[in-house]
Amino acid sequence: MDASLKMNGLADGQVLETRPARHVIRPSRAEAEMAVRTLIRWAGDNPDREGLIDTPARVSRAYEQWFAGYDEDPAEFLQRTFEEAAGYDEMVVLRNIRFVSHCEHHMAPINGRAHVGYLPRNRVVGISKIARVVDAFSKRLQIQEKMTAEIANTLEAELQPHGVAVVVEGAHGCMTSRGVHQSQVTMVTSRMLGLFRDEPRTRHQFLSAIGLAQASECGNLFP
Ligand SMILES: [Zn+2]
Repeated sequence: MDASLKMNGLADGQVLETRPARHVIRPSRAEAEMAVRTLIRWAGDNPDREGLIDTPARVSRAYEQWFAGYDEDPAEFLQRTFEEAAGYDEMVVLRNIRFVSHCEHHMAPINGRAHVGYLPRNRVVGISKIARVVDAFSKRLQIQEKMTAEIANTLEAELQPHGVAVVVEGAHGCMTSRGVHQSQVTMVTSRMLGLFRDEPRTRHQFLSAIGLAQASECGNLFP
């Protein structure tokens, strides 16, 4: 296997695709609003009553914000890097990047935060760009495991650092508001690449920085 393929965490022959699916033909706004009317009726209410009359238009506009990530390519945010970092080669960590995503199984909201670390190799990226990568991937229909991997793989492929670490914590609306009604449960997913995967000390330093080192010491989390 090619070493560079191994490093970016992709399987043999797998290609990193950060752009949204092509060949999706979007319906018209009128069609989208009709679909919302159908769901209102499915819920058991009358879409023509006064309080609901503008709801299909509002929901369609809200979708444009919640799913804005389909119009963005996160890899593009990382194209501008700075090589003059005075030889800085220590860990860079962004904690508590808030996001709102939607699970692809129920289209219910996922409220969460992402923690991202990387070990620069000669070049660094503006920190707001890392938050934008998280934002763009979150504003698509997602499962948290996939989103975690997408963030890490994109940083790995575009920055080619010595390592990337991503931990995502999410509260899933489909679990907190329906089904088993577990209101306090959050899900934690992680992806460690390069030195974060190979060096326990580096991984521990990252987990300490984001306040999860204890979790890793007293359980099988992040072994
Ligand atoms: Zn769900």
